[in-house]
Amino acid sequence: MATNRTFTMIKPDAVEAGNIGGILNMITEAGFKIVSLKLTQLTKADAEQFYAIHNARPFFGELVEFMTRGPIVAAILEKDNAVEAFRTLIGATNPADAAEGTIRKKYAKSIGENAVHGSDSDENAAIEGAFHFAGREQF
Ligand code: GDP
Ligand code: MG
Repeated sequence: MATNRTFTMIKPDAVEAGNIGGILNMITEAGFKIVSLKLTQLTKADAEQFYAIHNARPFFGELVEFMTRGPIVAAILEKDNAVEAFRTLIGATNPADAAEGTIRKKYAKSIGENAVHGSDSDENAAIEGAFHFAGREQF
């Protein structure tokens, strides 16, 4: 059964471009409740651990470099069927393929610098949320 929470990051490209407010507005307008939220920055070790599943991919070094170059916003979001609903809201990994009305269509620059992360399963949502937030920070 789908849990009602997912995890997101507003990535360094979108923070640099001043799009935190615009993206959080799209998220809340879509009916997600923010249950955890912070501005933080990943260390190289953090990014390597967070994206460990991609460590054999040719873009892994570039991904770690990108994700550590400046602050990110981390958040846990709540909504019915949150993981799938949020993946729909963010759109395809490559903004060239992202549907109209999605966050990546509006804010992503490229397949690498694509503005937002969204967990891909309930299991990963729980792991990723716990990676960033203590229990007392999850409301
Ligand atoms: P997501 O689940 O839609 O975020 O996509 P993936 O899990 O496939 O990839 C994780 C992240 O790696 C993406 O969001 C991008 O930031 C980055 N990424 C994926 N494919 C590429 C690529 O071909 N080149 C680069 N530079 N980065 C990529
Ligand atoms: Mg993914």
